[in-house]
Amino acid sequence: MKKILLIHTGGTFGMMPMEPEQTLAPAKVQDHILNLVPELTRLAEIDVLTPFNKDSSNVGIEEWDLLSRLIYERWHDYDGFVIIHGTDTMTYTASALSFSLRNLNKPVILTGSQRPLSQSRSDARLNLIDAIELSTMDLREVLIVFNQKIFRGNRTKKISIKSYHAFESPNFPPLGEIGVTIDVDNSRLLKSEGPVFHLPGFYPGVVVLAVQPSLTPEYFYSLFDQDIKVMLLLGFGSGNLPFPKPDWLKFIKTSIDRGIPVFIGSQSIQGDVNLSLYECGRQALESGAQSIGQMTVEAAYVKLLKILRLTSHPDAIIRMFHEKWAGEI
Ligand code: ASP
Repeated sequence: MKKILLIHTGGTFGMMPMEPEQTLAPAKVQDHILNLVPELTRLAEIDVLTPFNKDSSNVGIEEWDLLSRLIYERWHDYDGFVIIHGTDTMTYTASALSFSLRNLNKPVILTGSQRPLSQSRSDARLNLIDAIELSTMDLREVLIVFNQKIFRGNRTKKISIKSYHAFESPNFPPLGEIGVTIDVDNSRLLKSEGPVFHLPGFYPGVVVLAVQPSLTPEYFYSLFDQDIKVMLLLGFGSGNLPFPKPDWLKFIKTSIDRGIPVFIGSQSIQGDVNLSLYECGRQALESGAQSIGQMTVEAAYVKLLKILRLTSHPDAIIRMFHEKWAGEI
């Protein structure tokens, strides 16, 4: 039987409603998980660890590093790893793990639920069973398994707060579907032979701004007085930004002149950020702004945090950003 490490980090999955308002807060489900979902033990030999138990809004660099280290140190003890995680920032953690643990030759799978395991009609049980079963298979990347779909973690976005269909992978088809059978599309899987290596650390110097109609950049010039290293602007459609009124082009040029590279993403979730399509993007491109292409904003943000751990040189930041690391491009 395969050996799997199940890592419980929190999220709705294990939360209990707290009186009197019935607000969901972290509880101790991890102590009983194998009793609550006994069929798991027929799928694999499972050890359970709870390094932290948080709403995933409180998960960031520190927790990403803790998780990647924890997995790396136990890499040879298990055949696969499953992480129960809150849905809110699951895509960020999946991206972070995919950039910290490279050349994977085993699966690292994140799952969670929209409704707690303790409640009727919960999606928690099925998501966990699916994730554990998948973790015994020959998959070599960081995946999100949710609502019977298998996604590449760093391509995934949370798209719904209420539907069990909480995730989508807008620019990359799902890697598989779970129904009566598990159907994986082998042609699209990463096929690393290992050995896995660990690249810990992130540096928090990236500012993300979502540009809005008539939002003036004047509010944000004071950011240049802070120790920021990269600007990630979310424009409209294919990456367009307003100028000359309000003048985001001047803001972009100021940033680049100060040695702070500018990356441009979109507030649309599907398609390519293509700055040469319209004048409002082309001018930004000619000023040196970089498109994030088809990457999710989540993966782009986390990748930039990782790059800043490795270099602070603007040209190197740009070069590394366009390198393909873990199927994120
Ligand atoms: N707030 C929760 C979390 O991300 C939501 C969830 O798990 O679905 O931790």
